[in-house]
Amino acid sequence: MDDERESANLEDRRGQRGGIGGGARVGGLGLVAVVVVSLLFGVDPGTVLSMLDGGGAPTTQQQQPAAAPPREDAEARFVSRVLASTEDVWTAEFARLNLRYEAPRLVLFSGAVQSGCGNAQSAMGPFYCPADKRVYIDLSFFREMGQRLGAPGDFAQAYVIAHEVGHHVQNLTGILPRAHAAQQAAAPREANAISVRIELMADCLAGFWARRADELRGILEAGDIEEGMGAAAAVGDDRLQQRARGSVVTESFTHGSSAQRVLAFKTGMTAPGAQTCLERGG
Ligand SMILES: [Zn+2]
Repeated sequence: MDDERESANLEDRRGQRGGIGGGARVGGLGLVAVVVVSLLFGVDPGTVLSMLDGGGAPTTQQQQPAAAPPREDAEARFVSRVLASTEDVWTAEFARLNLRYEAPRLVLFSGAVQSGCGNAQSAMGPFYCPADKRVYIDLSFFREMGQRLGAPGDFAQAYVIAHEVGHHVQNLTGILPRAHAAQQAAAPREANAISVRIELMADCLAGFWARRADELRGILEAGDIEEGMGAAAAVGDDRLQQRARGSVVTESFTHGSSAQRVLAFKTGMTAPGAQTCLERGG
């Protein structure tokens, strides 16, 4: 997708001081706990963060000026094109549902970053913050996906972005706030089950994006779908738990098993409209 348009909603905060200190809602032991939980259980701790953060209430946040990535930065420009593609797909789909799509911003950071959901570190993986409607990604995660999780390739990366944008769609449609409220009132096991439903729905929405984006612009190349499925399987809770501690505890799943995540992605790929995803387990 080299000649696709780029998004105006990319913020390049790489190389800026972020993270430690200043307006943190999740800090100290809380942050350590979030990092550990996320490393063991999934790729995006957005839900965990906002649970700790009282449902993702806005924190005092310094507005960082948006900065476009340098022209020669192929990785960042790829992210920008994928983001632009999600804007096209979701603007059209929201219009079809008589809704207006408010595009999220995507923040590239390195090491640590201050988000509206608290401070975050790159070890936590990409996440979506509902309070400031931003997706946060440290591009080193993509290298890790390729090297450590065995899910290399452009489309695997696009799937991760589309999954996070899926959480934004859930936020705009009210599903995410309702789920967070339900989680606060729920016992741990039930809260985990709610998280799994939300995560599988985001996978489904990512699959929906992939098919629609291909219909609009012919973005898919041979092997892309397999790459997306491979990425979905690589970040399944069973696979991550097996890798992290050599055993699997189903009740502790927060994102769904590899098989569930692949199935959710496939469901989205063949869905006639986004409602098919949004009505599943909302
Ligand atoms: Zn997620």
